[in-house]
Amino acid sequence: MSEHQDLEAELAFTVAAIWRQERISCPHPHVLQSWLQGGLPPGAAEFVEFHLRDSSCPYCHAVVEDLKAQDDSARSPVLEDMQERLLRSTVAALRQTRA
Ligand SMILES: [Zn+2]
Repeated sequence: MSEHQDLEAELAFTVAAIWRQERISCPHPHVLQSWLQGGLPPGAAEFVEFHLRDSSCPYCHAVVEDLKAQDDSARSPVLEDMQERLLRSTVAALRQTRA
């Protein structure tokens, strides 16, 4: 009985190792991007979350980090521009009230 359990555990370990090694069932980077943007249907989003959380797939985590970094660098100039415009209009408003 215990031998059978050992074998089963060993097999599960091997499958997990192969799964990680071969990146079987890794979602495509485009899928990961859609998931980040919240554009995946619930079933697919669950699969991606399961894959990232339970398999701790280093490949997909790297892809997600990469996509997040790209997203930040794409968004921040717009945000900075908005903050700058807001600051300028505030300064202009302050000058008008003083004058
Ligand atoms: Zn993966």
